[in-house]
Amino acid sequence: MAAMVVKKTPSKKASKKTRRNPSGTASKSTSKKASSTTSGRPGVKVREKAKAGGGLETDPKRIAELLRRLAAAYPNAKCALHHRNAWELLVATILSAQCTDARVNMVTPELFEKFPTPAAFAEASLPAIEEVIRSTGFYHNKAKSISGAAKKVVTEFRGKVPDTMEELLTLPGVARKTANVVLGVAFKKAVGVVVDTHVLRLSYRLGLTRETDPKKVEEDLMRIIPRDHWIAFSHEMIHHGRQICIARKPRCVECSLETLCDSADKTWSSH
Ligand code: SF4
Repeated sequence: MAAMVVKKTPSKKASKKTRRNPSGTASKSTSKKASSTTSGRPGVKVREKAKAGGGLETDPKRIAELLRRLAAAYPNAKCALHHRNAWELLVATILSAQCTDARVNMVTPELFEKFPTPAAFAEASLPAIEEVIRSTGFYHNKAKSISGAAKKVVTEFRGKVPDTMEELLTLPGVARKTANVVLGVAFKKAVGVVVDTHVLRLSYRLGLTRETDPKKVEEDLMRIIPRDHWIAFSHEMIHHGRQICIARKPRCVECSLETLCDSADKTWSSH
């Protein structure tokens, strides 16, 4: 049967309410009463509930299918930040805040040539670091974080990046997202789930969470995603967020997850 195109124009009769979602967009969703009268199809209430932000879609079979499709779509998904060791990955991840990975990758070759080790960063002046990382934005704070992390790595961890969440979180500029990137990519340790802006947005759109705080979203994901998928799941979601489920205008017609998705942000729907 041919797929049906659904225009995202709610019925005039349907009452509307506006809510903020992690995309930063204001989503208009029909009230449950209105939506239940617009279709007699089975399951429509469940979908409308999710659209309205009240429901989660965490059925294990659905999650398994979601993971299968993500893995099929991005079989080689990996961290896009260029690095040769855990320290370089840590620095690159700090630099990636509010900046594209492509921009970070343009900056790090010169940075790591000038300062090849944590000790070299620890000895460098802040202006010397700032000069190289300026184009990544927020360079005063980033230079402080990198310098502080280098000093701590040198003085307290014998020049080696620690491989536990507890120790990583003691480094300046390192929160759970950065720690999860380093643990998962450099040490292959699934301690948590990386929740960046893409994972945050997609998790909400796919009904995996109704939280907006990254820490709470991570807790939700850790509950419903099997641990042996945590590392790959983050990479795949980030790729999907960059290529298909983009923030302002998701490319739903090209999305391999479309039949599993009931987001109010959809630009096209087959169901
Ligand atoms: S169907 Fe659209 S909103 Fe849903 S995950 Fe795919 S691109 Fe994102």
